[in-house]
Amino acid sequence: MQKNQKEKEAKYSSRTIISKTEIEIDNIKIAVEFKRIKKVNLKVQPPSGKVSVSAPFNIDINYLKNLLISKIDWIKKHQEKISNLPKKAEKEYISGETHYFLGKAFLLEVLESKSRIKVFLNSDKITMQVPFRSSKEERERILYEFYKLNLKKLAPVLILKWEKIIGVKTNAFGIRKTKTRWGSCKVVSKRIWLNSELAKKPVEVIEYVIAHELVHLLERHHNKRFYDFLTQFLPNWEKYKAELNKYD
Ligand SMILES: [Zn+2]
Repeated sequence: MQKNQKEKEAKYSSRTIISKTEIEIDNIKIAVEFKRIKKVNLKVQPPSGKVSVSAPFNIDINYLKNLLISKIDWIKKHQEKISNLPKKAEKEYISGETHYFLGKAFLLEVLESKSRIKVFLNSDKITMQVPFRSSKEERERILYEFYKLNLKKLAPVLILKWEKIIGVKTNAFGIRKTKTRWGSCKVVSKRIWLNSELAKKPVEVIEYVIAHELVHLLERHHNKRFYDFLTQFLPNWEKYKAELNKYD
C-alpha cells in the first residue's frame, strides 16, 4: 500500500510528462507538455528559438491556444533576440491562422457557406463566411475588403484629429494596397493615400502615418524641417514607426 502510494506520487510528480502535443500559431510550432502543475510555463529556448510550454494536464485546450495567441508578440520578440528569424511566412487564409486587426491578434475562422460573403469580429476571432471551394486568393481579397472598409471608416476621424493638431486641411483621402509605402501625400491636390495594411496596426501607429502625411502639407521633403515638425506634433513618432513592421 505504502509503496503503491509512492509509485502513484512518483507517476504524477510535477516533472512527469502526462502527455504531449504540438500547437501551431502564426507558423510557430509550440511543443506542449501536460503535467501535474498549476500554472502555464512558456519558454523560448536558445539557440534555436524553439518554443515550449508546460501546462496543467487538465487545462482547456482552447483556453491554452488563446493564451498562446495573446503571447505571440512576446514569443516573436524573444525569437528575434535569440536567432535571426527567417522572413515572415505567407498566410494561407485558413482557419487557425493568426491575423491582426488594429494591433490585436485574432484567430481566423473560415466558414464555407452558400449565404453571402461576410466577415465579422468576435472578441478573439475573425470569422470569414466564404463561398465553397474558394481559393486562397479569393479569401485574401475578402479579408482585404474587410480591412479596407474598416480603415475607410476609421481614417476620417483620425485625419480630422490630426488636421486640427497640425493646422492643415486635406481635400480627400484614399485607401489602396501597395507593397512599398504605408502612406503618401499629394501636396498640390492635398490628397493622402493610406495603405490598407494599416488596418492591422494599432490605432496610434495609424495615427503616426496620418500625422507624417499631413506634415508633408507643411514641408514636402524629408528634411530637418519636416522631422522638426513631426517631432513637435508627435514627439514619440519613432516608437510608432518601429511598430509598423509588426502585426502582420
Ligand atoms: Zn513622407
